[in-house]
Amino acid sequence: MKRIGLLTSGGDAPGMNAAIRAVVRSGLYFGMEVFGIERGYSGLMEDNVVPMEMRSVSNIVQCGGTKLRTARCLEMLTKEGQKQAVATLEKHGIEGLVVIGGDGSFRGAKVLSEEYGVPTIGIPGTIDNDLEYTDYTLGFDTAVNTCLDIINKLRDTMTSHERVSVVEVMGRHCGDIALYSGIASGAEIIVVPEIAFDMDEIVMRINRSRANGKHSNIIVVAEGVMDAEQFARQLQSVTKHSVRPTCIGHVQRGGSPSMADRMLAAQFGNKAVRLLNDGLGNRVVGIRNNKIIDMDIIEAVSMKKTFNYELYETLQMISM
Ligand code: ATP
Repeated sequence: MKRIGLLTSGGDAPGMNAAIRAVVRSGLYFGMEVFGIERGYSGLMEDNVVPMEMRSVSNIVQCGGTKLRTARCLEMLTKEGQKQAVATLEKHGIEGLVVIGGDGSFRGAKVLSEEYGVPTIGIPGTIDNDLEYTDYTLGFDTAVNTCLDIINKLRDTMTSHERVSVVEVMGRHCGDIALYSGIASGAEIIVVPEIAFDMDEIVMRINRSRANGKHSNIIVVAEGVMDAEQFARQLQSVTKHSVRPTCIGHVQRGGSPSMADRMLAAQFGNKAVRLLNDGLGNRVVGIRNNKIIDMDIIEAVSMKKTFNYELYETLQMISM
């Protein structure tokens, strides 16, 4: 394979730039020409294709966001849009494609491979950690660290005023950001879409912790359950303690990637290009049990994300 393309799609995630760098440099290492496609599938339809050189990716390993920018593109769900995307690839002689994005972006990649025969490799780039086949997605670790930084600050002020903090984190329908940031910040309670919550039990846990000498409480609520303001209103109506909502919001998606995300980016990007160089396509890369793996894209997108109940129980046992 002599010419490959690369795009970032869907929600941005810290580490996407480091992955772009790894793909470009690995491609050049194998003597390939590498083309960046700007603004995801939209750029593929609108022919926003730029040649990438060694220096195109200098000084970006530490940057949040994505140098290629990203987009959500409804036309990619139509036959017409898909044909236009393939026509752009053909026009530039691009023989293989690397797609960095979440499950939606992978569905687009699957269509390109399955229906149009374009060898495509998916790199899981999303803060949500909502893909079953991989233990971690790119950007998740940094996003959780951003949440921790904010929760630490909230803990300071909540303790001074003896308040209850309701902190809303992202993750769409997946509770992993809430689960990991809850455990790692010492939050007393997490509320995730995977487990129905009981407000009476939450009040009981708050009261018990206060009786045990605590001066504040942190409740991490995943956005897939409800927003922080709504949850705080419901809680305030049944507790005498002062409740304050905070929505962390889009800061979770930005910032310099953590070491863990940069390492994933380097390995995912390199593995994706190795697969294309070996003449393979229609696959996704990931990490499982600390090993970089690849898997059939159709199998990967059909897997249903499971929730780590053991970690949830751990939080219940140690956060009193
Ligand atoms: P994140 O999880 O961070 O939001 P994502 O990749 O899941 O990222 P989506 O908005 O779901 O984000 O998908 C990104 C893009 O992938 C869509 O805008 C669309 O262009 C393409 N896409 C999604 N689903 C399909 C599909 N079924 N067929 C073809 N293309 C699709």
